[in-house]
Amino acid sequence: MKRWHYLENGITLELDTPSCIGCGACIDVCPHGVFNIVDRKAVITDRAACMECGACALNCPAHALAVTPGVGCVAAIITGKLRGTAPDCSCGEGSSCC
Ligand code: SF4
Ligand code: SF4
Repeated sequence: MKRWHYLENGITLELDTPSCIGCGACIDVCPHGVFNIVDRKAVITDRAACMECGACALNCPAHALAVTPGVGCVAAIITGKLRGTAPDCSCGEGSSCC
């Protein structure tokens, strides 16, 4: 399955490593394989693959993850499709972005 990558600078995903208890829930729920566990802590191994779905933050029992769902390129692409306009996530990259 092709894994899309998005502009890393526009991704809102944040991991508070000291709070992580290494349960692995984020790995189980992430549809794009963004995380791995190293030394009993989650690490972000493929940040650019995050589509900001919010599943990891929603399922993290330690509240170690934060992401603003529905912003950035993914939201821009969906909005563009719905409106029939060119995607615009306001990152400044213009049409070369989304
Ligand atoms: S779900 Fe939260 S606590 Fe569990 S491994 Fe991932 S970041 Fe750590
Ligand atoms: S927001 Fe979604 S795609 Fe991004 S890291 Fe979390 S579960 Fe994976």
